[in-house]
Amino acid sequence: MTSDPFFLQPGLDQEIRPGKDGSDGAFTCACCGLPSPGAGLPWTGPSTGVGLRVCQVCNLLQDTSRAAIDAEAMLVWWPEMSQSRLMFLARTAHQTLRLMARQQGQSDRQFWETILKAIPDPLLGTQFSPSFRTPMTLLRLLESRRAEAEHRLQSGSVRQVTTAMRLCGSADETVRRNLDLLRAGLRILPTGRLLDAGADVYPAFLDKALALTPS
Ligand SMILES: [Zn+2]
Repeated sequence: MTSDPFFLQPGLDQEIRPGKDGSDGAFTCACCGLPSPGAGLPWTGPSTGVGLRVCQVCNLLQDTSRAAIDAEAMLVWWPEMSQSRLMFLARTAHQTLRLMARQQGQSDRQFWETILKAIPDPLLGTQFSPSFRTPMTLLRLLESRRAEAEHRLQSGSVRQVTTAMRLCGSADETVRRNLDLLRAGLRILPTGRLLDAGADVYPAFLDKALALTPS
């Protein structure tokens, strides 16, 4: 029994590869399975696997009670989809959006913010070229289960929900059953922001990730 509501089951296909330029290493994330820049962060979650490493995005799952989490992730209700699959889809969609933005010469942070704002608001999305539509629609679909999570939990805050779940006394059989039910359907969906000392480092992360895969 874990006290962490958002544990995942890392895959076993992780490997460390040398980076393209021979200096900056790359590896395959043990959670989303995507080629990722750097050496990754050690997975300390309850799923077994010594030496598993995850990318910066999947690392969000490791501490869902920290201050910035509600800007970086939201709760969605997706019992049909594994957490690692959701991470794969979200990061792939974000990478595609970043690639298209750059191809249009729009690599500044402000444009990235505009893209993110247009995801929950399809009217704002009409300002983008048709090539943005597919990844935006995918992200909208993934976000569409946000309301269901909020309805079930009476809160949309990852931080609040994590704290509440950790405080639950699991000695009670009914409480334990309810917690298991929530864990079975609750997922974390990255918003497209990764904050480091208040600055969004996600666009830079995506640029490095894109450099690893031929487009
Ligand atoms: Zn990952």
